[in-house]
Amino acid sequence: MSDKPHQNLAIIGHVDHGKSTLVGRLLFETGSVPEHIIEQHREEAAEKGKSGFEFAYVMDNLAEERERGVTIDIAHQRFDTDKYYFTIVDTPGHRDFVKNMITGASQADHAVLVVAADDGVAPQTREHVFLARTLGIETLIIAVNKMDVVDYSEDTYEQVKTEVQELLKQVRFDSDDARFIPISAFEGDNIAEHSDNMDWFDGPTVLESLNNLPEPSPPTDAPLRLPIQDVYTISGIGTVPVGRVETGTLNVGDNVSFQPSDVAGEVKTIEMHHEEVPKAGPGDNVGFNVRGIGKDDIRRGDVCGPADDPPSVAETFQAQIVVMQHPSVITAGYTPVIHAHTAQVACTFESIDQKLDPSSGEVAEENPDFIQAGDAAVVTLRPQKPLSIEPSSEIAELGSFAIRDMGQTIAAGKVLSVDE
Ligand code: GDP
Repeated sequence: MSDKPHQNLAIIGHVDHGKSTLVGRLLFETGSVPEHIIEQHREEAAEKGKSGFEFAYVMDNLAEERERGVTIDIAHQRFDTDKYYFTIVDTPGHRDFVKNMITGASQADHAVLVVAADDGVAPQTREHVFLARTLGIETLIIAVNKMDVVDYSEDTYEQVKTEVQELLKQVRFDSDDARFIPISAFEGDNIAEHSDNMDWFDGPTVLESLNNLPEPSPPTDAPLRLPIQDVYTISGIGTVPVGRVETGTLNVGDNVSFQPSDVAGEVKTIEMHHEEVPKAGPGDNVGFNVRGIGKDDIRRGDVCGPADDPPSVAETFQAQIVVMQHPSVITAGYTPVIHAHTAQVACTFESIDQKLDPSSGEVAEENPDFIQAGDAAVVTLRPQKPLSIEPSSEIAELGSFAIRDMGQTIAAGKVLSVDE
């Protein structure tokens, strides 16, 4: 681990606009790709009579290495600049990227939005910018990619920039903070060094912009919250729930409670990366064993917290949502599935309390009869099975969720308050 402040970075944008290529390029330029992978690739490329360097290939190899449990740091896609240590929070192109982004599995402070110069703003560009705004991404760096494909044309860059600024205005992203950079992830233009191909651009490169990001917000003093991903039985140890510590600290000897299963016990052992540790903190993936708890007492979707400050279980909760896509109208009684942390629970729209003006955030209508795609609203939801969830103002990590139906993410939301 590095002593530098840690930043979580999301790389967002439409499919094929170059997210993976940019990640590969960032790892490469910062010396984070292992030499043997580069060598191996050069040899294979030479055999096929090719020169050049395919980042897709590097990314595939990183994924393979991760599966074999090697070079964890690289597989997790980490790199550093002079000032910060960066973790890319999700693999671009991952099927559940949007869901993970919403449910907090990928909490990012900042994002790089990749927009291909030859394509401009595309459907997922909109969707991701919309989510980034809803989820409180602080700073957006907009990389106008594939500049090599458009002959490094300043006019094309300006057109795409105007399109994106228009989009930011529509979703009310404070565009003063947005930084635009014309790049070629493939050729390496304006990534680490200023490109001679675009002497009309004198702004910072991608790595300079990352280095200039605001300091990450300090960790909160929120209590332990550890959503359970899986529950294993391991011989010689017993029941081992596993999950990622979102907030607080888990210590051997702590009395912990699992909600909504409503069981409690004392932590006997904690294991991280196959080693026993005395404690674990935010971001740590752990397996742990709790005295007296059996495999059937707890399940995926439970949240572990201190026995004297347990995670809340919602009878109903009020939330602010944004409807991204839905074929018809949403009315009270609608019952889609809520994905929050590791839980998936059907929830009924008990009432639609307010429709908000998407351009100002102000109340546009009290108790509307329905909402539809593009609307923002305050709604009251009733879980059909016990669900542990928290107001996002108290524990941001456990206060955001996705609403899914018919195999699609139809809305994203944040919990305003919980009625237990
Ligand atoms: P993703 O789906 O957003 O992760 O996109 P990829 O990184 O997989 O890139 C999609 C395709 O565009 C691949 O064939 C890349 O080689 C190509 N590509 C990405 N960036 C550039 C670029 O800057 N210039 C050119 N010419 N091709 C690029």
